[in-house]
Amino acid sequence: MAPDLIMRRCPKCGVPLLAPFMLRWRNSGRITLPYSETLKMAIINSDVYHTVFSRIEENLGYSIGHLLFEAHRNISRTSFEDMPRVFPGLGSYLHTGFGKRSAVFIFNIIARLFGLSRCETLDYVPGEWGIARFINPYHRELMAANVVGAFEFLDGGPYEYELNEYGEMEFIIKVWPSGGKPKFSERLEANITTTIPGDVKLPVCRRCRVPYGISERLKWMDGGGYIVDRFTNARMIISPSYTLTTVFRELAEELGEEVNEILVKAKRDWVVEHIGQMGIADPRGVHTLGEIHEVYRQYLMNLPLYGHGNPLYFKVEASHMEVVVENPFDVHLIAGTILGLFEALTKEKCEAHWETRRENVVAYYVSK
Ligand SMILES: [Zn+2]
Repeated sequence: MAPDLIMRRCPKCGVPLLAPFMLRWRNSGRITLPYSETLKMAIINSDVYHTVFSRIEENLGYSIGHLLFEAHRNISRTSFEDMPRVFPGLGSYLHTGFGKRSAVFIFNIIARLFGLSRCETLDYVPGEWGIARFINPYHRELMAANVVGAFEFLDGGPYEYELNEYGEMEFIIKVWPSGGKPKFSERLEANITTTIPGDVKLPVCRRCRVPYGISERLKWMDGGGYIVDRFTNARMIISPSYTLTTVFRELAEELGEEVNEILVKAKRDWVVEHIGQMGIADPRGVHTLGEIHEVYRQYLMNLPLYGHGNPLYFKVEASHMEVVVENPFDVHLIAGTILGLFEALTKEKCEAHWETRRENVVAYYVSK
């Protein structure tokens, strides 16, 4: 097989050499796109999307797929919009047919680099239609939203799509300009926020500057277009962290703050059921206080590695624990994780609450 030059690896740590060009690990505990400190990304177990979403839908009694799609297509478009502002001349280049085709080629590379799917363009007439094949998508509708949002950025107007399945994990998507987006799409634009600069210093590879923790944990499966956790084989993706936050902001406005409790509980249940997939704890037995302390230390140590935030402080006691996180990527998903870990390790039902100490700083408390 010919060598895969696009996904060529760092000879020192083995991470794709493109990774440091597309991602920045910031001292705030967040990962961002390279051209903007506010376009935040997170490394997430893709099963969280599937299981947590379906748990939430069971609780609400209806599908939230349309909200997720709109939020994700919007942030997909927004993620590219800053690029021409940062790179002078790119904007006019992207108005040419050649520029648009080059951009679509790069979108496919990004999809592989971020573990979203193996994606290739079959046909593209700028401004008229695009047809692409994607294999092994992490989530078929969200992958479609990625494609639709990317074309909306390129051609400057709303697109619609048709998705057809060929085989178990192979899809053909056709996109073309539409008359408009659903009215509710406007409410699902991300609220782009800043972060507090911190002092996170992750040990990095001297050659490619990507944190060593990434090469220790993640393995890029080139042929398949996906990433797995080396310890647990769980599928991991790199995705904008705004999608879920935006959907839940909208749900909370419509249904009240209680909806955030559903998200916390859905994530808690996921952690209790899948603690083995986190690769930091033995899922079998009751743990000593020292072991629980060590599991939390490892979980918190990995937060900046995955772009989930900057842990400032934690304390674990027999029936109580406290964690303070700066720049949490999603306040409620982290609450659910912290609660779920305590329940999974102690095998007892616990309660969690959290408070915003100041902007971007959240204190979490768990007690039996
Ligand atoms: Zn390296």
